[in-house]
Amino acid sequence: MSFALIEKHGAHEEVLFCHDASVGLKAIIAIHNTSLGPALGGTRMWNYKTEEEALIDVLRLSRGMTYKAAASGLNLGGGKAVIIGDPKTQKTEGLFRAFGHFVNSLNGKYITAEDVGTGVQDMEYVYMETPWVTGIPKEFGGSGDPSPYTAHGVLMGIKASAKEKLGTEDLKGLRVVVQGLGNVGSNLVDYLIKDGAKVFVSDIDVQKVKVMTDRYTSQVQAVSPEEILFTECEVLAPCAMGAIINDQSIGRLRCKIVSGGANNQLAEARHADQLAELGILYAPDYVVNAGGLMNVFVELEGYSPERAFEKTRKVFDNVTQVFQIAKRDKISTHLAANRLAEERIATIGRLKQRHPGKSSRAFSTLREVNNR
Ligand code: NAD
Repeated sequence: MSFALIEKHGAHEEVLFCHDASVGLKAIIAIHNTSLGPALGGTRMWNYKTEEEALIDVLRLSRGMTYKAAASGLNLGGGKAVIIGDPKTQKTEGLFRAFGHFVNSLNGKYITAEDVGTGVQDMEYVYMETPWVTGIPKEFGGSGDPSPYTAHGVLMGIKASAKEKLGTEDLKGLRVVVQGLGNVGSNLVDYLIKDGAKVFVSDIDVQKVKVMTDRYTSQVQAVSPEEILFTECEVLAPCAMGAIINDQSIGRLRCKIVSGGANNQLAEARHADQLAELGILYAPDYVVNAGGLMNVFVELEGYSPERAFEKTRKVFDNVTQVFQIAKRDKISTHLAANRLAEERIATIGRLKQRHPGKSSRAFSTLREVNNR
């Protein structure tokens, strides 16, 4: 493992290697940037083949969180943690409490949450050792499942995209394709139906498809997983896996807009340019799916579901701003989202240097908690 590898993956502020042999803990916490506030990002537990693979993942993911928070107008920085191990067989109370100690040692510079391979139970153990954790159960004052908020944000992203491309944010009669009926996709379908859209759905789990087609017999139509991406529609909303816009799929798309909840929808950045050439408007995934992060941010301030719901409406403005930057600078919407984030980090980061006492409310609230 080398410092060169860390440097190659962006200018991180701090990378902490966590090792506790007594419980078999091997973890890495990466803090990418705290210009806007404390670095928030989940803890991923994964059976990485090599330590280098884990390091690259945490560096890449923490950088992504910086951009997501900044482009979403949140006073948060970007961070992430990975625990090396099999989440099915190697989870113990001791492992997560030891990890909690390391999180606590950063004194609020990094705030953790659930991610792939970790869940509410694990975060409860982390919470026993540190207050710097979000995504804890509602009974502990947490915000619970973020998916309905993510889905509401996705709805806002779809509306902003429809306004830009079709001249109206009214979804009545619009054909929307939802790939994946998991936590985000199923909530999104409910919102879309309320707004009068005609929805096409698909999931590799046939039971999930049946639930939706039974619930909305006339408004929802099932499509096979092989065909869903190529269904003619106004909006394609990917809500399953990443990299679905790739060299094989891009030429076969029959949508006017891509706007959905899945992470990393583009196989490569160049696919954003290709979508634009095809006349397809791409709403950048990390701006569209930020509702869950907004929900967690509200948790830091003292949770209110109403305020979290209101906050997710901001996705509409954020996505609109991305489209404006793309037009202003004649760049892809993917690059425009990055530019929106970078501009905010530069401007607000400078301001914060002049007024250091006025950092985010979330940060000061948590600092109080920690000092109790
Ligand atoms: P989930 O695991 O609950 O749902 C994913 C669904 O996609 C599953 O039902 C799965 O069967 C289905 N699926 C997998 N491959 C498929 C295929 N080829 N065709 C059709 N369906 C397929 O996950 P989720 O929490 O709903 O998240 C969905 C996406 O949104 C992920 O990319 C996730 O990273 C992203 N995301 C989620 C949140 C959140 O709040 N849950 C926040 C931000 C981003």
